[in-house]
Amino acid sequence: MHSKVVIIGSGPAGLTAALYAARANLEPLVVRGLQPGGLIATTSEVENYPGFVEGIGGYDLADNMEKQAARFGTQFKDALIESIDVAERPFKLTTDGGETITADTLIVSTGASPRKLGVPGEEQLANRGVSYCATCDGFFFRNKRVVVVGGGNSALDEGLFLTRYVSELVIVHRRDTLRADPVLQERAFSNPKVRFVWDSTVSAVLGDQSVAGVRIQNLKTGEESDLATDGVFPYIGHIPNTWLFQGKLNLDESGFIVTDGRTRTNIPGIFAAGDVVDHVYRQAITAAGDGCKAAMEATWFLAEQEHAALKSQKAAEEVVSPALGQW
Ligand code: NAP
Repeated sequence: MHSKVVIIGSGPAGLTAALYAARANLEPLVVRGLQPGGLIATTSEVENYPGFVEGIGGYDLADNMEKQAARFGTQFKDALIESIDVAERPFKLTTDGGETITADTLIVSTGASPRKLGVPGEEQLANRGVSYCATCDGFFFRNKRVVVVGGGNSALDEGLFLTRYVSELVIVHRRDTLRADPVLQERAFSNPKVRFVWDSTVSAVLGDQSVAGVRIQNLKTGEESDLATDGVFPYIGHIPNTWLFQGKLNLDESGFIVTDGRTRTNIPGIFAAGDVVDHVYRQAITAAGDGCKAAMEATWFLAEQEHAALKSQKAAEEVVSPALGQW
């Protein structure tokens, strides 16, 4: 399988790159990856993506983007890329099914994954009360008590979504002020189902077959106490999905791909866009903007390559023709 543009990842960055590359007649191939639609597809309501006056569900937004990219000829593949060879062009990618895909250009938009608490009980009770997706799992916590960890936009946004179902929501935050936008803070403070535990962290998730509680440690006093709960939703940030590119692309100290401000990585022909690059803005709209830039850069790169190839072919013909003329 060969494509002029292969896009790894199908969040707003990847799907916007696909839309632009498809409209440039490059017939891009999107490898969907572990989380089709990206993280935005697991978000309940998106109220800050321009053009949707009343907001739009995260899943619907991702689904619309995919359909729009498909309309112009984007191909999609459900697979994970397990290894890449970027030593020469075309780049070579191997999928988890053992298939080889070659690419003249590559757009990396593999996003970021939820950061884990890394405490006892978290892994054992994953999907048994520990969840990283309120939109996916909120329904299972109808009339139950739930703990959200974190003080950013995700913690409050997803926590507020959970209040549709749960009887009580406790937000455990390591400081006494929130990082989340004021509009979300106001909504959380005025919601009667929401209670905050400040200056604290979850030091263990408790339970045998399913979550029964959390151990909370006050970071100022060091005191620990147990809180009964049926679910835990950590929303403490994200880590970039870049293990595939270690030793191949330049990464910063936190593992994000380093680009030159024009989505170009250290390897000509490989571009990166969205949360895999951005640890500052991390919005669907900025990821989409990045995806647009990456596709335009890939288009220009391919045009330059084509132009250079034509030029050297012409030069070779000019060398041969005079000699032929003398014969
Ligand atoms: P974030 O803004 O980085 O917030 C992470 C939160 O987790 C912070 O409050 C942080 O505490 C806390 N935290 C980090 N490590 C921790 C640890 N080990 N233990 C306990 N707490 C820890 O991440 P995010 O909320 O996932 O948001 C990511 C990006 O998406 C942001 O740019 C955000 O604006 C955006 N977003 C926007 C919306 C929206 O606009 N509606 C919704 C969701 C996300 P400190 O505050 O002390 O650092």
